[in-house]
Amino acid sequence: MGNSEEAAAATNVALKDTGAPTIFDKIVKKEIPCTSVYEDDKCLAFKDISPQAPVHIVLIPKERDGLTQLSKAEERHKDILGHLLYVAQLVAKQQGLDEGFRIVINDGAQGCQSVYHLHIHIIGGRMMKWPPG
Ligand code: AMP
Repeated sequence: MGNSEEAAAATNVALKDTGAPTIFDKIVKKEIPCTSVYEDDKCLAFKDISPQAPVHIVLIPKERDGLTQLSKAEERHKDILGHLLYVAQLVAKQQGLDEGFRIVINDGAQGCQSVYHLHIHIIGGRMMKWPPG
């Protein structure tokens, strides 16, 4: 792991789900800008500010509704979770990721989650490695 990756990991471990509004609420409210690539009544997809591949999109539910992280999912979230996964592959196609792509949901400190508003990373445009770091 490089120094910057170590620093990022340490920062993420320090972050916890407090339920406080996140930067993604501000993006949904258009209080801060994003480069949007897809939007419908339930979700919004935009370019990651720190891309880890030629294509790196973040897909979020517009209403967080307690879904700060995947492990907080409840029965009522099944519809939005299914919708997000369906939209993820639409966005991947729209982005031209015909050779494949990776879907990532980081959960909690050890999952290196940094923003506590559930989101799906759609990553592609290069060969992925396995296992992930
Ligand atoms: P995670 O670490 O899984 O919680 O992912 C959060 C992601 O949000 C990271 O990949 C960040 O680069 C990304 N991110 C944070 N702030 C912004 C922003 N203002 N616009 C776009 N992406 C962002």
